[in-house]
Amino acid sequence: MYDIIIIGAGIIGSFIAHDLSKKLCNVLVIDKEADVANGATMANSAIVHAGYDPEPGTLKAKLNVRGNRMYPGICESLGEPYVRCSAFVAATSEAESRILDTLAERAGERDIEYRDMDGDSARELEENLSDDVIRVLEFPTTGIIYPWNIAIALMEEAVMNGVDLKLSEEVVDITKEERYKVTTDRGVYEADMVINAAGVYADRIYAMALKGEPDFHIKPRRGEYYVIDEMAKPVVNRVIYPVPGPDGKGVLVVPTIHNNVLIGPNSQPVDDKEAVCNTSEALNDVKARASKTVKNLPFDKVIRTFAGLRPSGDTHDFVIEESKTLAGFVNVACIESPGLASAPAISEYVIDNFVKDAYPDKNASDYVHRKPITFMTGMSDEERNELISKDPDYGRIVCRCCLVSKGEVKEAINRPVGATTVKGVKKRVGPGLGRCQGGFCEPLIVDILAGELGVDRADIRYDSAESVMLIGQTKKGAL
Ligand SMILES: Cc1cc2nc3c(=O)[nH]c(=O)nc-3n(C[C@H](O)[C@H](O)[C@H](O)COP(=O)(O)OP(=O)(O)OC[C@H]3O[C@@H](n4cnc5c(N)ncnc54)[C@H](O)[C@@H]3O)c2cc1C
Repeated sequence: MYDIIIIGAGIIGSFIAHDLSKKLCNVLVIDKEADVANGATMANSAIVHAGYDPEPGTLKAKLNVRGNRMYPGICESLGEPYVRCSAFVAATSEAESRILDTLAERAGERDIEYRDMDGDSARELEENLSDDVIRVLEFPTTGIIYPWNIAIALMEEAVMNGVDLKLSEEVVDITKEERYKVTTDRGVYEADMVINAAGVYADRIYAMALKGEPDFHIKPRRGEYYVIDEMAKPVVNRVIYPVPGPDGKGVLVVPTIHNNVLIGPNSQPVDDKEAVCNTSEALNDVKARASKTVKNLPFDKVIRTFAGLRPSGDTHDFVIEESKTLAGFVNVACIESPGLASAPAISEYVIDNFVKDAYPDKNASDYVHRKPITFMTGMSDEERNELISKDPDYGRIVCRCCLVSKGEVKEAINRPVGATTVKGVKKRVGPGLGRCQGGFCEPLIVDILAGELGVDRADIRYDSAESVMLIGQTKKGAL
């Protein structure tokens, strides 16, 4: 029996679980995936937007501005990186320049710092900015993060403070009797309150509870990307946006925390809520559109392409409200961009408006904080040697591209919300993120996972239960 069940362990469900873990209440989080943050939270531009873009009067505008201000402190307390890299919004025509006037006005009204400059001044700061750019607005408070690591860190701390987490369990039915009965493919759980943070499936989850048609519908919009290899000198230092249009923020060039560059996304409505595939048409479109604002893009250094699905609703704003017919059923739905940037403020809004003071706060001194995961690449030689002398596995490199040691992989597996899949290890400590994309290290990760989890290597999955990696023996001897 729980007080609150959260459906969905993306960035939204993780922030809400973390906030609720500071209160005296019993919370369960359920996700159908094998890991936290496997939905939209895994495949996006990873930008904490400054907040100048959303239409005035929307929840998006209010919560993006607040979320941007909350992130640095939250990342510091979790021990996760947050880089305030700044951003350019680049106009290439007089018509686009007039849109910059609107953005500048909104920034002023929202007290968001910005600088207005001509194309040449901007090119002095970003040498690869296209020669066609005539004017730029700079937004210095724009940040970049690793969204999945923040979600995992939040969930780790929530679990360490009493929240229950069920992964690989799909919610298949919800009924309201005296309490809510949430049925999964593995069990039935009861709670007084349900928080629906199910991303692209939030409309279907609400329909299960309503036993009818919900008042919002989600049609995903797919965004596709190129990932450029880590470069000695990055292509750009700031996020480069074109001026926004009817499809949203447009195709961006984004530096990442580990010095890769993302180029994308396009925006294509799709019917299939699982259609995270790449298409050559979309990738060609991304290439052409990115080249409008940035020159010298090294498309010969692409190491991966990927796609994410925006949980876009027909409401054109976030839907964060209690059901009008089902008391205690709270939808946190249609959380498309800037959902990531707004996530801490969305959670605060949910707690303030729907949980209120139903449960007292825990004593701050009783709250347990996580120890950040070890990253040897950020250490001095002395620190590395000390660690290796305590545990030689920190001296055994398994990922040569990203220099990840066996010790770090073992740590990723043995944490409170530890990795159970190859992708889970990659998300936490990075083997496979580099140039060879796992070609060298994946077999070693399978070995380490099997050893640490005490299972057969054939039982290790890349990600979902269907993503089998080893299918039989090629040589004499056990798998
Ligand atoms: C291409 C793209 C670019 C973006 N760029 C940015 C950006 O730069 N900045 C920004 O602020 N925002 C950005 N966004 C938006 C941001 O990624 C989302 O707003 C955010 O990740 C939504 O988080 P969520 O937790 O609501 O959804 P998700 O991360 O999708 O989580 C929902 C979870 O619910 C689970 N679930 C669904 N159905 C069930 C079920 N039946 N049973 C159990 N579990 C279930 C899923 O498995 C999933 O883990 C972008 C999105 C995309 C796709």
